[in-house]
Amino acid sequence: MTPQDAAEILRRYALLLDLLDEDAFKARAFANAARTLDEQTESIEHLIAEHRLASIKGVGKAVEAVLKELTERETFKDLEDAQQRVPQGVMELLRIQGLGPKKARVLWQQAKIMSVDELETAIRAGSLPTLPGIGEKTLNNFLESIEFLRVAAGRHHRHFATREMVILHDELQRVTGVHAIYFGGSLRRGCETIGDLDVLVVAEPGAVGVVSDKVRAIPGMNWTNTDGEIWSGATANGFPVELSIIAPEKTCARLVLITGSKQHYQALCQHAAKLGFALTKDGLMDGSGSGVKLATERDTYRALGLEPVPPALRETAETLVPLGSNPFLRPVERRDFRGILHNHSTYSDGLNTIRQMAEAMMAYGYDYLGIADHSRAAAYASGLTPQRVKEQWQEIDALNRELAPFRILKGTEVDILPDGRLDFEDDLLADFDYVVVSIHSKFQMTEEEATARLCGALENPHVDILGHPTGRLLLQREGYSIQHERVIQCAAKHRKAIELNCNPYRLDLDWRWLARCEELGVPVPINPDAHSIPELNHMQYGADVAAKGPLTAANCPSTWTADEFLNWCRNRKKPT
Ligand SMILES: [Zn+2]
Ligand SMILES: [Zn+2]
Repeated sequence: MTPQDAAEILRRYALLLDLLDEDAFKARAFANAARTLDEQTESIEHLIAEHRLASIKGVGKAVEAVLKELTERETFKDLEDAQQRVPQGVMELLRIQGLGPKKARVLWQQAKIMSVDELETAIRAGSLPTLPGIGEKTLNNFLESIEFLRVAAGRHHRHFATREMVILHDELQRVTGVHAIYFGGSLRRGCETIGDLDVLVVAEPGAVGVVSDKVRAIPGMNWTNTDGEIWSGATANGFPVELSIIAPEKTCARLVLITGSKQHYQALCQHAAKLGFALTKDGLMDGSGSGVKLATERDTYRALGLEPVPPALRETAETLVPLGSNPFLRPVERRDFRGILHNHSTYSDGLNTIRQMAEAMMAYGYDYLGIADHSRAAAYASGLTPQRVKEQWQEIDALNRELAPFRILKGTEVDILPDGRLDFEDDLLADFDYVVVSIHSKFQMTEEEATARLCGALENPHVDILGHPTGRLLLQREGYSIQHERVIQCAAKHRKAIELNCNPYRLDLDWRWLARCEELGVPVPINPDAHSIPELNHMQYGADVAAKGPLTAANCPSTWTADEFLNWCRNRKKPT
């Protein structure tokens, strides 16, 4: 059993306990354990065999016993009991934004609502009784969220897709006769969420048949259709796959096709037709019907008189431009990163100490680490009191003496309170190296209120970076709406930065606004918001999505040196 699958089950149990309103302490313990397990890489069986479960933070005796039972039965007694008492549909209510276990319990027990569909029907018919804590505004929000959920169905987060891609890639690589493997689709285009893995397997000349037989037999893959050109199925973890096995000469044209987007590909085909060419899934034919020789995917564009379009920019037809116009800026890449600014430690809700985080960063080759733990209002995340902040600074000073030339910067992620004030006094904020401001509470606001709340915070002279601007959780909650244009203009005016939070659930600032930030000179640091060492690797998702803006290295403080960044905080002058 993978630790992620185990985490999923523990999380489910924690929610059931909350729904039943029975043991809040136990629910919290299981939810925390799930979070730690998410970041493990070895199977639960392996961890048990090596007696290492208990050494994982957050895994106490109770959780350990449950994990052992899970590996034997894929479920556990307490979970089964809890499941018996809560209808499946009631659990699903929890996927609605703003509908936590408390409200779900009220809807279930007082209004006999037992599914998302029933709730939607009842709201639309106005047939719900008056319920505590659930007013008309809340119900309207529920409706909006239900519509959102219907759109989100069938999409998956980037980290899940990436993990499945790596596993499948390894399997395919072991197949003899495979010449090359490509992954296209929204994964290759750097999209926030992924529907399925679009895979291209190029067989050695004459080996399509042999490779097909072997791919069909890959253990764990569940193929539903392997008859035609495009196979469909799912990985052992249930991730949908579309796969083709082709001869080498078809590679370029097919890669363009499976990368998409549909809109971009159709425009490309139409452009080819206008020139008298035919672009098909198997190749590019000229007017006389003979195939054009293509050595690389980029040649497909060049042969049609077009600038090769980077995969990340293939969302629309607009990026089709004449060869020689060279319009594409080089996006920031992972190798450009020198430091990262928004991370948490055990001082607030992180799982690793500052030292552990710093040593991991050093091992990854970074020059500096910014710690930005939560401020005191974030009680759920053990936000720091001013006293704790001072203690943290002492520890950072000592570590900096020891780890030099590596540097740890003293930041904070200070809450923007519901009334717009910041959660720390100005004189404390002034003493941090830098200040990130974020909203973590009272998400129910109008677009105008949310925009004003953010802009007000950006006006504070001690603030440097706006954190996760909309608070969205991809496929889970929409976040509050804001007027991006106004927020970016405000950041430009006060010379503040807006982060691209690259936690795969957030990817917020939305990449569609990166070009605007570039235009107005608003720097965009890529921040993993890491709460543990493995989450530092989320930087890759930031780079993937940043390529869609694109965000350039020069406008991304994650590529600056620590001194360049601190100098910008003091003088608001970008490094040249
Ligand atoms: Zn935050
Ligand atoms: Zn954070």
